[in-house]
Amino acid sequence: MLRSRRIVTAVNAASDLAIASIEAIGCSVPLRQGVSQGLGTAVKRDTVMIKVTTAGGLTGWGESYNGRAPLAIAATVNTTLRDLLTGHDATATTAAWQLFEDRVLANHGTCAACVCAMSGLDMALWDIRGKAAGLPLYRMLGGTPAPVPAYTGGFSLGYASPAAVAEEAQRQVAGGYRAVKLRLGDTREADAERARALRSSLGPTVAILADANCRYRVDDVRAILPLLAEAGVGWLEEPFPPYDDPSWRAAAAIAAPALALAGGENLYTRHEFRRVIEAGVISVVQPDLSRCGGITEALRIAALAAAAGLDVCTHGCHTGLNMAASVHFLASIGRCARYFEGDGSADNPLRTTLCSDSYTLADGTVTPLEGPGLGVAVDEEFLRAHPVTEGQAWR
Ligand SMILES: [Mg+2]
Repeated sequence: MLRSRRIVTAVNAASDLAIASIEAIGCSVPLRQGVSQGLGTAVKRDTVMIKVTTAGGLTGWGESYNGRAPLAIAATVNTTLRDLLTGHDATATTAAWQLFEDRVLANHGTCAACVCAMSGLDMALWDIRGKAAGLPLYRMLGGTPAPVPAYTGGFSLGYASPAAVAEEAQRQVAGGYRAVKLRLGDTREADAERARALRSSLGPTVAILADANCRYRVDDVRAILPLLAEAGVGWLEEPFPPYDDPSWRAAAAIAAPALALAGGENLYTRHEFRRVIEAGVISVVQPDLSRCGGITEALRIAALAAAAGLDVCTHGCHTGLNMAASVHFLASIGRCARYFEGDGSADNPLRTTLCSDSYTLADGTVTPLEGPGLGVAVDEEFLRAHPVTEGQAWR
């Protein structure tokens, strides 16, 4: 006799911890210093902030990645997910995610916008869990405050002259980083010149990582591989879009063992990560907590990576909420944690103005915050004064 799959129903809390309200607030900020890279030139930043309040008055915050559809993601939270989870126990994070999976994902696939929406909501619930317990998130997750290595990422080290890129990297190192990430995906010649200039300027002790932002073809990987290996580049990130399985397989065969391939910022849920991990095409796994499904799902992704012997590095470049959550997460997943992506952007109000400090950099490492939950305060006045502006963020 067939048994139907058990569907989890809402865990209603008749207590102070019941979810009383869920609100998604879209936000856009213009950029004064746009950076050009494989995605184009950034002219603004979009994000979606999720505010959850319990019956007892606790408030949790999370970030949903904009998914190039911030208004749609905010609407999904303010309709579907609000209906699904209002009244649910805010601390029952696993049950909330199962409800989302059963009622939203199971019949529609991993649909990126829905997973972005749930990611920020899940992050807000973990913020509440920590506040309810009076503990920082890393302690809720079983972590320690041991330092986590960081590299400088975000909107930085883009398509400027080799000399300008080398100078920018020198500033990042002077600011405390011991690893930097160069943007590739320009012409092969320009990519090569910047990589050479960077290694020559930084010397042998600073780690260099590289990100092609999905702009390469297999022939590009073949052509630049010897140079990246010679320059001691630690990984090549996203040479191709996440759905181009044949190219990933071909590049992995060419690159190994000289160069590691990294990817994951554009993958959604453990199911998509399982696919690439089983295919053996990446050795550095990069979940973004604001879009992979949140903290609950990122823990599962880390478990998959650890079981496969792979490294985990978080991706995140917009709000301080996601960055703080990423440090807590990395401090809690054991030996597979390799790097936190620090914000090397010269201009990011979503980290520096919207949020209180999300991490402190010292000797190339960061440590998690000690306040309850994520430990980050949100400037709600700033948030509501900067609603989403329509139009593309990259030109
Ligand atoms: Mg990237």
